Amino acid sequence: MKYQNSHAFSKQLDAADSLSHYRNQFHIPKDSNGKNWLYFTGNSLGLQPKATKEYINQELEDWANLGVEGHFEAKNPWLNYHELLTDKMAKIVGAKPIEVVVMNTLTTNLHLLMVSFYRPTKTKYKIVIESDAFPSDRYAVQSQLKFHGFPEDSIIEWKPKKGEELLDIADLETILEAQGNEIAMLLIGGVNYYTGQFLDLKKIAALGHAKDCVVGIDLAHGAGNIQPNLHESGVDFAAWCTYKYLNSGPGSLAGLFVHEKHANNKNLPRFAGWWNHNKATRFNMRMPFDVMQGAEGWQLSNPPILSMAAILASLAIFDEVGMDALREKSEKLTGYFEYLINEIGSDDIKIITPKNPKERGCQLSIQVKNADKSLHKKLTENNVITDWREPDVIRCAPTPLYNSFEDVYKMVSILKTLL
Ligand SMILES: *Cc1c(COP(=O)(O)O)cnc(C)c1O
Repeated sequence: MKYQNSHAFSKQLDAADSLSHYRNQFHIPKDSNGKNWLYFTGNSLGLQPKATKEYINQELEDWANLGVEGHFEAKNPWLNYHELLTDKMAKIVGAKPIEVVVMNTLTTNLHLLMVSFYRPTKTKYKIVIESDAFPSDRYAVQSQLKFHGFPEDSIIEWKPKKGEELLDIADLETILEAQGNEIAMLLIGGVNYYTGQFLDLKKIAALGHAKDCVVGIDLAHGAGNIQPNLHESGVDFAAWCTYKYLNSGPGSLAGLFVHEKHANNKNLPRFAGWWNHNKATRFNMRMPFDVMQGAEGWQLSNPPILSMAAILASLAIFDEVGMDALREKSEKLTGYFEYLINEIGSDDIKIITPKNPKERGCQLSIQVKNADKSLHKKLTENNVITDWREPDVIRCAPTPLYNSFEDVYKMVSILKTLL
């Protein structure tokens, strides 16, 4: 697509965008003068759909009017409420319904998955992560190693080449060739939070499996952003939060994926509670534990319905739009953003996110010369909401559901004056 660097052109792109009206379905925060923020942090906390309040109010009312009977009598009975989310969530990550459940929070899910899938032996126990993995993932992996009695330095880092920012799959291959016999598991961020790089999950799964390693993916920055095709990729497990691109509210519940090939494996060690016990006999309360099939077999507790209501409100929008249409707009929107930044032609900033749209989601990570944090501060003072990540990056995510081409144009105009 041929872009133009003008305000009028950005408005033309909005006029031609069949998804532009979805912006009206979200609350866009404003400054004290009532001027809309230019919100570029949907990768950190997605904005609130206007419908969310109604979905939550429905549950508050059913609780007020029905008390405990709401488990069966609510408009959407609470007992099976999580099932309302499954099909829609499965489509978002390219999974089969049996492979997906919404429960707990992201890091908790990673731990529960590692209970089942990180099965180290005396000689094959090491774990591969990206060198700039999200801190929570690193801590989770370190604590699992410690829990199993292995030194914390049993982590192998998949690093960018010296002087580069992005990961090269060939380097992962080299690690596995050299040390595959000692590696039990790979836990990789499918879309790296820092650079925005979207990795080839299918290749990672194939490389890991060739060396008998379990392969897990953190999709916190992928779910609702790119299509990871989890089932087809063949990865063993994955987890993601719903408060970033999935717009489900601060601290909302997380998704969990376990590949169908493990759906009926009752021998996998796992933690148990009444919610992963067979639904048919759960309320007999006396039965020996009988684990459920598929991803539901990792649940422990009856879930918080108010949080699930917010997820349901958001998934209704994703379901209506579909990931294909969303990706199509996202590639254009981020492409326009990239074009405009490059038009500034400043040596003080550099985009480190891959140039190939197939290797990134909507986020662009802008590296700032001399790690000058004041640029981020000035953007914020000008109502441009981005985030700063140490050591030297401003992350900006134009999200296709509620950011416009005009937002992108205005943002870059402000950035240009600040440089
Ligand atoms: C956001 C994010 C987390 C946050 O974990 P919570 O358990 O939801 O607090 C973890 N890992 C990655 C890669 C993230 O992007």
